[in-house]
Amino acid sequence: MDEKRIPTLILRILFNLVDEMMGHHSLVMLLRQAGLEQYNNALPPLDESPSITVPEYSCLLAHIYEIFGARGAKPLFLRGGRIAAAELRKHHPTRFAVAGTALKLLPTTKRMQIVLEQLCKEGEEIYGTPHHLEEKDSYFDLVMTSCPYCAEIMRQAVATGRPVIRPVCHIPVAVVDEMMQWATGEPHAVEEVECIALGAEACRFRVSKQAAP
Ligand SMILES: [Zn+2]
Repeated sequence: MDEKRIPTLILRILFNLVDEMMGHHSLVMLLRQAGLEQYNNALPPLDESPSITVPEYSCLLAHIYEIFGARGAKPLFLRGGRIAAAELRKHHPTRFAVAGTALKLLPTTKRMQIVLEQLCKEGEEIYGTPHHLEEKDSYFDLVMTSCPYCAEIMRQAVATGRPVIRPVCHIPVAVVDEMMQWATGEPHAVEEVECIALGAEACRFRVSKQAAP
């Protein structure tokens, strides 16, 4: 199997946000610590050309977590995930367009299921790791048994003896949240209920079938 590489636009979105929310000096520091100085004076393009490998991406996220702390990293990851979801959908009108037209005719729960299954497929394509969907009466669980978002954050936590105390995979939470809003026209609560970084066997993202009030 060939090595998976992260679409460049994901880096561009994250770097832009660090620059905007934390200041240019923080971006320079992040790029230096993550060994990505090639982007210092030329931010990567907003396209899907292949960039860094999946392990390198995990390291980049861990550097963001390390530099800005759990509290600083969270809003950055959440905003990044939302922007990335919308941007990736824009780049693949056909993948979601068919669903988009047919979607309007379907009950909300069915719409959610179709889009979540598509997200699992895309996730497997981008990261090469297993994603699957489980359905219960009142929610769906999107389950990742190997998770690029927290893999390195967890390793760092063990290495430094500073344990992770809350789930850290905010990017997929935001991606699912944005896609549910798009697919149903209403917000649906999305929460990471189990995280590998907290000792769970999988990262588990729970999506309420009921629209949030
Ligand atoms: Zn995770």
